[in-house]
Amino acid sequence: MKKQFDPRMHSAEHILNQTMDRMFGCGRCFSAHIEKKKSKCDYHCHRDLSDVEIKEIEKGVNDVINADLPVTEEYVSLEEAKKYYDLDRLPSDTGDNIRVVRVGDYDACPCIGPHVDSTKMIGDFRITSKSFENDVLRIRFKLSK
Ligand SMILES: [Zn+2]
Repeated sequence: MKKQFDPRMHSAEHILNQTMDRMFGCGRCFSAHIEKKKSKCDYHCHRDLSDVEIKEIEKGVNDVINADLPVTEEYVSLEEAKKYYDLDRLPSDTGDNIRVVRVGDYDACPCIGPHVDSTKMIGDFRITSKSFENDVLRIRFKLSK
């Protein structure tokens, strides 16, 4: 998993994941495809979402972006990280210390990818489409600017 993530897109993914989990309790995405132009995230969700809910997610993410929260990182021991975070999506060879990326006090998640320094650098977040099949909700999104 040595992908070259786009820092803006990838930071947006962190915020989207936290927003999805807060609104629908679906956890973070279990699969993601992050590219500079457009990205998609898949969530285990027990139902489809309405267009109104999609707009609410979009607004929730943009509210965090516009709050211009600092994006910071810290290192915690693997033992400590296991207590608080799901480490399934981290490579297995990360060593004894895990990098945890924080988006202000909104989100914290172990991650090895590159991020912006503050959320305003992400730009406008827009959900372009969603689909729902076999309890998997897929959200596709873009950034403007
Ligand atoms: Zn990350």
